[in-house]
Amino acid sequence: MEKVALIKATSYEQNEVTTAIEKAVNLLGGIDKFVQKGQTVALKVNLLMKATPEKCMTTHPAVVEAVAKLVLKAGGKPFIVDSAGGPFTEGYINSIYNASGMTLASQNSGAPLNQDYTYYEVENPNAKVGFKFPIVSAIDKADVIFNLTKLKTHSFTGYTNAIKNMFGIIPGLAKVEMHGKYRDLDVFIDFLYDIWTYLNGKVKLNITDAIWGMEGFGPSNGTPKQMNAILASENPLALDYIATQLMTLIPETTPIIRKGIEHGLLEQNPEIEVLGEDLTQMIVKDFKTCEPNNYKPYANYVPQFLQGTVHRVMTKRPVIPKAKCKGCGKCHDHCPAKAITMHPHKNKRFAKIDYNKCIRCYCCQELCPFGAVKIKSGIIYKILHIKKNKNRTTNPHSHHNQGKSETPH
Ligand code: SF4
Ligand code: SF4
Repeated sequence: MEKVALIKATSYEQNEVTTAIEKAVNLLGGIDKFVQKGQTVALKVNLLMKATPEKCMTTHPAVVEAVAKLVLKAGGKPFIVDSAGGPFTEGYINSIYNASGMTLASQNSGAPLNQDYTYYEVENPNAKVGFKFPIVSAIDKADVIFNLTKLKTHSFTGYTNAIKNMFGIIPGLAKVEMHGKYRDLDVFIDFLYDIWTYLNGKVKLNITDAIWGMEGFGPSNGTPKQMNAILASENPLALDYIATQLMTLIPETTPIIRKGIEHGLLEQNPEIEVLGEDLTQMIVKDFKTCEPNNYKPYANYVPQFLQGTVHRVMTKRPVIPKAKCKGCGKCHDHCPAKAITMHPHKNKRFAKIDYNKCIRCYCCQELCPFGAVKIKSGIIYKILHIKKNKNRTTNPHSHHNQGKSETPH
């Protein structure tokens, strides 16, 4: 039976975080089970963009520091690594290391920050869609990977945690290319699982920072939400299965989990042993979830040839208010569908979206450093969404609200 450790932690005070992580890892068999003396361990964090820990977009440095020290204690050689949403270059990644607190976590723990910005193409003959893709060399060459994730909503996939975090091993702007190539949500998720099959068991441990997560329109434009939890598991999908319940989601209804079961990472209606806290007491009842982009309630009654058009008018769409846009051009540079153009306005520029080209991947919303991209639902989407929520089964575990949600720290 798969096991997930669930430990309560209410703040990012280092001692509390370290104790919670040690407890979680010990419940799973202890750190020596996951790393051998002398092995290099890539601590694959979530560093979405240049943001301070208080924004709750990135794995908190207290979590990274605690895990790094644990690996060092076991005789492993940890290093901190991620390829964020922008270019995979020394200057850009170091600015994110500094803003996110990774530099401090590195100094405090002794685990270096990855400074190898090379990558190469790898092959996966067992893939469903991604037979070849580029990968960050340092992660590929590590003996072992620890997946250190942040629990958040996600405008495209519904939520992001253990499974989705591995998309960050694709270097910088190649991620844009992958979004362009795998536009349909189900196909994109197939690609995520292709990354996991390529890694072939090298990810020995998954640890989630859900002390503060993100609700609403994540992964960057949502609202920080106190959730008071650290989770850990050897199985990333089992971890997501439990973590999504903390967000009040019904796991099998989320595309990542549904597809993960198809890919054989878990059985249908899996039995998962939760070690530590009582899951029913940890669920954040008033958590604001986010509908994934593959919501197709019309699929049974609209002819195939019209589905593209109908999907466009019935999905959430990104909107860039002229007054909010600073004209930096980041969304333009990263849009996989080349749907964004820059236009002069008074003495600056603003970004404009061509909705006929837009594939609703929400990368623009994810990466806009000024939070200028809003996600808007059309009236038809809203009506159907309300109807769908009415039909949704109430989660039997949802009866305890842990959230205070004022400030993260
Ligand atoms: S929407 Fe955001 S990312 Fe795009 S140009 Fe405006 S400020 Fe920059
Ligand atoms: S406009 Fe935004 S949501 Fe649409 S394809 Fe481009 S990046 Fe994706």
